[in-house]
Amino acid sequence: MAQEETRKRSLSERIAGQYSLYLLRTMALMLLVFTLVYWLTAVIYANRVCSATLERLSDSQWQAGCYMIGDTGLTRIDGEEIEPSVMPQRADGALVLIRQRGLLTVVLGMGNYAVMYVALILTLTAVELVRLRIMRRRAGQISRKALQPISEIVTAAKRMSASRLSERIAADGARDELRELIDVLNEMLTRIELAYNNQKQFVSDASHELRTPIAVIQGYADMLDRWGKADPEVRDEAIAAIRAESRGMKELVEQLLFIARHENANHRYEMEYFDLGEMAAETLRETQMIAGDHHVETKSMESVLVHGDRSALKQALRIFLDNALKYTAADGTIALSCVREGSWARLTVADNGVGIAKEDLRRVFDRFYRTPDARGGEVDGHGLGLSIARMIVQAHGGRIEVQSRPGAGSRFHILLPV
Ligand code: ADP
Repeated sequence: MAQEETRKRSLSERIAGQYSLYLLRTMALMLLVFTLVYWLTAVIYANRVCSATLERLSDSQWQAGCYMIGDTGLTRIDGEEIEPSVMPQRADGALVLIRQRGLLTVVLGMGNYAVMYVALILTLTAVELVRLRIMRRRAGQISRKALQPISEIVTAAKRMSASRLSERIAADGARDELRELIDVLNEMLTRIELAYNNQKQFVSDASHELRTPIAVIQGYADMLDRWGKADPEVRDEAIAAIRAESRGMKELVEQLLFIARHENANHRYEMEYFDLGEMAAETLRETQMIAGDHHVETKSMESVLVHGDRSALKQALRIFLDNALKYTAADGTIALSCVREGSWARLTVADNGVGIAKEDLRRVFDRFYRTPDARGGEVDGHGLGLSIARMIVQAHGGRIEVQSRPGAGSRFHILLPV
């Protein structure tokens, strides 16, 4: 705490110091300018006065000049010394005539002006020094006040923890850059809070999804233990159910792992140039093999060269085809096409299945979201397929479009840049 105090004080001290330095610099500059102006006006003025006197005494030989009258003699303003033996005769105020080797010299004594100048400079310096002292103290106070919001940021950051992520830094009294800093930090906290809550929700949904199959497996294992040893029918049913549930669990864990790896940016895509139409045709053939009574066909299969991870994009396409099979009646039709549209390749999976209601369309890409029909129905699923497909497509710079009408069917489009 004491160390922090020192740090804070030293920061405001440093600001005050900088401020004083700045004042000193401006003061020195001012004195320099002032001196220059003084000497310039003095020279011009003296020359004018001397020339005027010379005009009046034009019948003699004259040497004009502006001189300082000191105790030791005269010094020209341009630095040339006058012999100490030559003594000035005061003619008119500061105006002096000197007889020197037959020449008469008109001298304008600047002594009074010089005294005035020195007095002025000294007064100015004294005033500036007092002002500097006051300003230094004031600058310290101002910077301490201005830095107050930083102390609040430090306190808020220390207070912050996972359970207090909804707290924000108070921006009272902060202005300009500090206000901007606080706003940016608060926005960052909002994003962190959102990401954290999403993560929490994800973990809770995942645990929930895993709990059901585990409970089913447990139930069948108990049933096997009690009656299965003697009853072959019970035993076969239990084995089939355990097998199905563990398969579903494996699928779910794989999906969860994919999402986790993707979120941690640990997923590496093996990028290559490949023919999207050829990949789609291959996936279509594989789907036809498992399609049962569904009609799986293609309308158009163009050859389009794209740059991407072939197996990841195939995985995304499989998700749409599997969904089409899952949500379309046994004798329904599923069509896959691949076409090039300008600088995009478009893969379309169309089905004449159950379709998706308008209010669900926005949410089907959310993790674990399943439409009420899918949730209540017989179709297996965890609501992760579409969100994974979207992740893959977006990682390739592409996008997904969907059109659907309940009862009429759905069309999912994958658009990839070519
Ligand atoms: P899952 O199919 O495992 O439930 P998805 O993320 O793949 O999860 O899909 C989310 C939801 O979107 C599904 O539960 C289903 O309600 C709906 N859906 C996806 N594809 C279709 C489709 N072709 N026809 C009708 N509904 C679909």
